[in-house]
Amino acid sequence: MASFGGRLFGPNLDGAGVAAFGQWRQERLVVQTDAQEWVAAEHSTISATGFNATQLSVAWSEPQGVYHFFVDAGPARKTFSDGMPPGLAAHVGAANRAARSVERRFKLWWAVLAGIALAPIVALVLLAWRADDVLNWVIAQVPHEIEAKLGDLVVAQTRAHMRVIESGPAVDAVKRIGERLTAGSRHNYRWLVADKSEVNAFAAPGGVVVVYSGLLQATDRPEEAAGVIAHEVAHAELRHGLRGMVKSLGVRAAASLVLGDWSGAALQQAMASLLEMKFSREAEVQADAEGLRRLVAARIDPSGMASFMDKLAAKDKDAAPPEWLSTHPASNDRADNLRSAAAALAGPWNALPIDWAAVKGGLPATVTSK
Ligand SMILES: [Zn+2]
Repeated sequence: MASFGGRLFGPNLDGAGVAAFGQWRQERLVVQTDAQEWVAAEHSTISATGFNATQLSVAWSEPQGVYHFFVDAGPARKTFSDGMPPGLAAHVGAANRAARSVERRFKLWWAVLAGIALAPIVALVLLAWRADDVLNWVIAQVPHEIEAKLGDLVVAQTRAHMRVIESGPAVDAVKRIGERLTAGSRHNYRWLVADKSEVNAFAAPGGVVVVYSGLLQATDRPEEAAGVIAHEVAHAELRHGLRGMVKSLGVRAAASLVLGDWSGAALQQAMASLLEMKFSREAEVQADAEGLRRLVAARIDPSGMASFMDKLAAKDKDAAPPEWLSTHPASNDRADNLRSAAAALAGPWNALPIDWAAVKGGLPATVTSK
């Protein structure tokens, strides 16, 4: 007869139990220790016990008290189950089901607890993962009229804070170059020349490009100015400014602008964010590529873009970088990339028929600072 190991607990036995073997004999459980043998009563109870209820035990009563025989897990348990009398098998089936159910409940609770603990982390990961998609979606919802309205505001703000040069060869030149670079655009571009000594330019949503007189003074030929203007146009066309505004305002404030709430804090914030905007390195690389594409489409020699960048990098290393050079340390790479990209492009280029000396000579002699 096949026997199975286990541990017996009961009256006059060691409190920690005694190693024992069990056997089925004529439908009765016989338990043997080194010293003694028990034949379990006919009406023994079988139950699932232990941690996770995976252990089977048989209990029966003797005059001196109740005995419990715990069947070892693994092969012993299988031997115990296989030899079991049919009457008891039903019992064990119930015990096994109870064990499985406890195990399931236990696993479920773990899952719930783990879920509660991890939920904020999961939410954050999902949010970070989808943040760009959400932002892209929001930006795609902004109608062009709103963009144009933002552009109007930027023009008004620029006029309020800077002296804008209203006419003359520099204004004509910027407009002429800009129009060649934006043929067919959905925006109605506004080209502004600000009387400011910084070598800078910026673009705003809705097709606003502001070029500082200091930048024009720093160029040697119209193609260099065209390179910067092309880069700024690319930012406007790719909606980088709009994206930056929505990002810094938060979706709620941006939504209120989109819905037509032009009063209040959101607008003030929008203006502030635009003037201090720094685009990501990725956006700058994108604007360089799109700017280059526009120069080529307009048949303007694209080498001016890189040469002007080089010139400025060599000239004042300590000066704060203008917007279109803002993503240090990438600017050396950017100039290199632009140079090799421009060199690979085949001309011929249509020279810009602009008297550049007249443009620079027509600017105010002493540019005002700030
Ligand atoms: Zn830029």
